[in-house]
Amino acid sequence: MKVARGRAEIRAVLDEDRRAGKSIGFVPTMGALHEGHLSLMSAARAACDVVVVSVFVNPLQFGAGEDYEQYPRDEAHDLSLLDARGVDVAFLPRVEEMYATDRSTTVTVAGVSELFEGAHRPGHFDGVATVCGKLFNIVGPDVAYFGQKDAQQVAVLKRMVRDLDFPLEIVVCPTVREPSGLAVSSRNAYLSDAERANATAVFRALEAGARHAAAGEFSAAEIAMRAVLDEADGVETDYAACVDPDSFAAPRPGAPVLLAVAARVGPARLIDNVVVETEPPVA
Ligand code: AMP
Repeated sequence: MKVARGRAEIRAVLDEDRRAGKSIGFVPTMGALHEGHLSLMSAARAACDVVVVSVFVNPLQFGAGEDYEQYPRDEAHDLSLLDARGVDVAFLPRVEEMYATDRSTTVTVAGVSELFEGAHRPGHFDGVATVCGKLFNIVGPDVAYFGQKDAQQVAVLKRMVRDLDFPLEIVVCPTVREPSGLAVSSRNAYLSDAERANATAVFRALEAGARHAAAGEFSAAEIAMRAVLDEADGVETDYAACVDPDSFAAPRPGAPVLLAVAARVGPARLIDNVVVETEPPVA
């Protein structure tokens, strides 16, 4: 596995692959790699000639008072996992490599970036869109892989790719869960055993909501999700909502609906979602 830390270095490596007609699959991550990340790499490995993974804790997407400093970092462990998964190129830029001190350009995807996670974390999706735009330009992938776990991130990035004509396809991979239903996440490392047990309420809430949403009963779905979360110990709900998966606006009967939850459990803020098909409206 090649490890590149500079933009010119990784471009030189991948230019050679491109000239040889090889397809490039790209998985952007913030490290602290787990089974969720590894599933994206497996999808890339199965479909592309060259698999590139970036590990970069992006300061732009953390707000003031968020966990940028505490975010788990373990480069040696990450590199050994990447190598074991058959990744071809790891890109680990330093912050100074990615951002000029006088940088003055930001990518903003209006609308969908301002709702839900965007409302709770102002500027978060500008940071995500800006870093992904830069990484797409540096790596030049044919396909970029993202997790359904971060559904709003997917909605933001699909729009950015469409609106700015990035020549790549976005592939979305299913959320990897622990046997308890808890979505695997780097931030689960912040949870004690008791908090981890409490956190299973998030997926139970989504399951309870999904039964109503499938029948087109979106208000009942939101009430059912709240009920499960309210009943759980140590869970403080930020939102539990049914939305359109592309716009995060009100869901449309007869179209797929996304049930999204954000909740604080101990020191962690957890997000999770499921998508359900809905019955067509009665004529
Ligand atoms: P992060 O390192 O948190 O920025 O995540 C990097 C990528 O891994 C994103 O596309 C996430 O959506 C994806 N991801 C994180 N957790 C999971 C999971 N449990 N299942 C599938 N994908 C995930």
